[in-house]
Amino acid sequence: MSDDKKKIKKIKSTGAMRQLMGEYFMELDEAAKTGSAKVAWCTSVGPAELLRSFGFKVYFPENHGALLGTSRLAADLIPAANAIGYSPDICSYLTSDVGSYLNKKTPLTRAFGMETVPKPDLLVYNTNQCRDVKDWFAFYQREFSVPMIGIETNRNIGELTGDIVKDLSGQHRALIPVMEEVSGVKFDADRLKETMDSSYRCTLLWKKVLRAAAARPAPLTFFDGTIHMGPAVVLRGDVRAEAYYETLVAELEQRVADGVGAVDDEALRFYWDGMPVWGKLRGHAELFAANKTCVVASTYCNSWIFEDLGTWDDPFEAMARAYTELFIVRDEDFKESYLRGMFKDYGINGVIYHDAKTCPNNSNNRYGMPQRLLEEHKLPYVVINGDLNDLRLYSEEQAITQFEALVEQLQEA
Ligand code: SF4
Repeated sequence: MSDDKKKIKKIKSTGAMRQLMGEYFMELDEAAKTGSAKVAWCTSVGPAELLRSFGFKVYFPENHGALLGTSRLAADLIPAANAIGYSPDICSYLTSDVGSYLNKKTPLTRAFGMETVPKPDLLVYNTNQCRDVKDWFAFYQREFSVPMIGIETNRNIGELTGDIVKDLSGQHRALIPVMEEVSGVKFDADRLKETMDSSYRCTLLWKKVLRAAAARPAPLTFFDGTIHMGPAVVLRGDVRAEAYYETLVAELEQRVADGVGAVDDEALRFYWDGMPVWGKLRGHAELFAANKTCVVASTYCNSWIFEDLGTWDDPFEAMARAYTELFIVRDEDFKESYLRGMFKDYGINGVIYHDAKTCPNNSNNRYGMPQRLLEEHKLPYVVINGDLNDLRLYSEEQAITQFEALVEQLQEA
């Protein structure tokens, strides 16, 4: 593999994104400290729009989990959670976040001067992604003695039938009385519609950002996407997220028009399936750039596109559909067909499957899918063993060897 480290092209809008994320955390901090607004904790694909319509400031523990990963604090904090019975084999977002709470240590202190994460008045989950989120929130429910409510979504869904949608719409509606009680605000259908419309516009803009990478050369990489998805995750339903993505889309469209790629002399285009290795984002970005390889698309970043939010008259049906149509909720046939489409749309040459030890839910290599897709598409792939947050489960040397082997195999082809 080439030692010639290519420069990573910095996205200029990054400063605006950091400023927006800073505002978001400062508002949460202020609300928790002064009681100026109620704070709700929500799972990353939970009913954030509904919460915002009641005026809640919405905090996402999974986003904090990712910050614990990127800051590399996770491995030091996880043992504290293990010591109180949370297994090293379960979600390392959960164990690093619980460890952070037990150790009273958060990357938000260094980044934004916050002493702690904002304390919750309400905890709201959706099990559409995994059971871990409910167990995670249940820990805090016991710690803070605040109400915990949620939506129970079955997984492994093929066709999203009317019965499933009806059940989930009803579950969304059933959250309202507790949200009213905790917020002291009456449900307002117009306010919900406004929030959902904004979230929908944000989704379309975020999709535009990701689709820009279909261009050759691609103006952004998967690693850029993992950073710039922040507002789409934590501020959907807030018009500031839309404004940010308009800026980013304009910058990326300019890059495409000027033929500027995120990676110099892009020669190969890869797909990343599964979670990022948060503590290794920069290293991975540099490694691929040095080899004229651009990781142009991923399942992960595309998981925050919720097009159904804007396509149904009944907002509860729209939420039910949007948060169940997701890749992670679906069966193997759906996932295979989704990946086939992505490989074609982005002109993929090779695939990286990340088998994240503590997240089977986001690891799609374990039931023969890479082999089946290889047979069909002749697209070479590698499976790297690692983890989203627990770097003790990731071997740098082994991963580099595998990345190198994939690049070399394609260069020789
Ligand atoms: S999907 Fe995976 S990473 Fe996300 S909360 Fe569940 S177990 Fe953790």
